[in-house]
Amino acid sequence: MGQIIDGKKISAMIKEELKERVKQWKDKGIEGTLAVIQVGSDPASSVYVGNKKKACAYCGLNSLSYELKEETTEEELLALIEKLNKDEKVNGILVQLPVPRQIREDRIIQAISPEKDVDGFHPQNVGKLVIGEQGFVSCTPAGIIQLLKRSGIEISGKNCVVVGRSNIVGKPMAILMLRENATVTVAHSKTQNLKDICKTADILIVAIGKPQFITADYIKEGAVVIDVGIHRDEHNKLCGDVKYDEVAEHTSYITPVPGGVGPMTIAMLMHNCVESMEAGRGADQ
Ligand code: NDP
Repeated sequence: MGQIIDGKKISAMIKEELKERVKQWKDKGIEGTLAVIQVGSDPASSVYVGNKKKACAYCGLNSLSYELKEETTEEELLALIEKLNKDEKVNGILVQLPVPRQIREDRIIQAISPEKDVDGFHPQNVGKLVIGEQGFVSCTPAGIIQLLKRSGIEISGKNCVVVGRSNIVGKPMAILMLRENATVTVAHSKTQNLKDICKTADILIVAIGKPQFITADYIKEGAVVIDVGIHRDEHNKLCGDVKYDEVAEHTSYITPVPGGVGPMTIAMLMHNCVESMEAGRGADQ
């Protein structure tokens, strides 16, 4: 039976460390602020936004909340982003995705100043990640690296298969694993022989968005399995992209859903906000 990678515990540790860092800056009169923008009132987005604000409060960061109506135009949203880009008190800007159809997501991502892009989606930050420069990294893949490292799992030299190639999870994940010296294969919907490829993985990272898709016959005995997916099953219970019950016994380590990757995403968002605050104010103050 695989050892469970406890994302709740690890994310709590990270938030605790950040809280301490924020407190030290606060003692010197320096504060950090995250601006969170939500367009429309999608219930899932409202939950995510609420959790992000709660995490800010926990870590001692300020949060500014902008709840814009569903009919907001692209120009209106761009104008708000521009205002926040110029606001020296704001260290991080986050637009909760998806945005309504009349707004082009790529224009919004590109409008956020790369220095305040705590989601790590701006092309400049993505480019920095690819060439190995310091910049903001997408929170979910960054959180997975923390899960692996803080669980004492060796990455260097291991065969890693990432299933999924989205801009926010799969692609940055593959680059990060490469940076950690894994040998990386990226699989997607056009991949042939997916099972055989997954079976080569010492570390299998699954981000495909299909409930319980990965079954025991995709797993090399003793592999580390990281499940990014979040879904509700037919009994309204949360589940991942991996069929946990049958896969777990073939692994050395596995993330559960919930309580695995999910909590790490917000912890790493907080990490990015703190880094932004520190970079903006200069570490020598
Ligand atoms: P996307 O839908 O953007 O990407 C899915 C990827 O999976 C695509 O690259 C697609 O390939 C690939 N794929 C789809 N079907 C198959 C298949 N049958 N075989 C192989 N590959 C396939 O999803 P995201 O990356 O945004 O998210 C993935 C999952 O992770 C979702 O369940 C999402 O809810 C969850 N998630 C969880 C987060 C967390 O904090 N825990 C954060 C972000 C996402 P192709 O490119 O060819 O279409």
